[in-house]
Amino acid sequence: PSLHSQRHQFVIDFVRKNKPKQVADLGCGECKLLKQLKFHRNIELLVGVDTNGAKIKKNMHGLAPLSTDYLQPTYDQLRVELYQGSVTQRDARLRRFDLVTSIELIEHLTLTDLERFASVVFGYMSPASVIVSTPNSEFNTLLPGLTGFRHSDHKFEWNRSEFRSWALKVCLDYGYEVELTGVGEAPQDQQESIGFCSQIGVFHRLQGNDLCNALHGSDVEEVFSYTLVYSVNY
Ligand code: SAM
Repeated sequence: PSLHSQRHQFVIDFVRKNKPKQVADLGCGECKLLKQLKFHRNIELLVGVDTNGAKIKKNMHGLAPLSTDYLQPTYDQLRVELYQGSVTQRDARLRRFDLVTSIELIEHLTLTDLERFASVVFGYMSPASVIVSTPNSEFNTLLPGLTGFRHSDHKFEWNRSEFRSWALKVCLDYGYEVELTGVGEAPQDQQESIGFCSQIGVFHRLQGNDLCNALHGSDVEEVFSYTLVYSVNY
């Protein structure tokens, strides 16, 4: 399977195991992950956010229920919402989800925006779990013909130690713990020295952080900075 589908499969496996009810995919792009997630019956609210509204509009139609979904309602209630908006801005409709995913998004942010991302996602949205994937630059030597970054829009590509430092700082600042893993294996003899092609952090909000965020949240005004571009109820 392509690396792209392995990253999405990683999220699907997490959803199968942990059964989150509200899931938001940040930088949802072509909505491919959302289209797979809509088949998971435990999910009641599925939200996508991307700055690129045109991309969402072009790809959102696959999220509509099929006529068979109405004829044979095998789903529990599901609501899907897509927003044009930036992960550097807060929106009260995305607070306190069970799971927020950010697949190959952070490397498109400047370091200033990356700080905003951490504050918005971990500090404000404050979901129970967050999955973040980003390229592992150590793997680039195994990608034939690659000279600079993997994509011209990338603002950085981190090695494992840089990603670990960022992830641990986020945990300290916002009260999370993290497991570091990845997808896309190097040849066996290089797995240890190079690591995965895409590195992944799975963050869990620490117990006790609940209260701190609830207090913090109560004196924050309700902000709605995202624009709803699509919504549907199953
Ligand atoms: N997550 C998708 C996937 O796995 O295929 C798309 C990844 S694509 C490399 C990065 C996406 O992030 C693009 O669709 C881009 O428009 C979006 N994006 C970039 N900056 C963003 C921001 N500040 N807020 C929300 N989305 C952003």
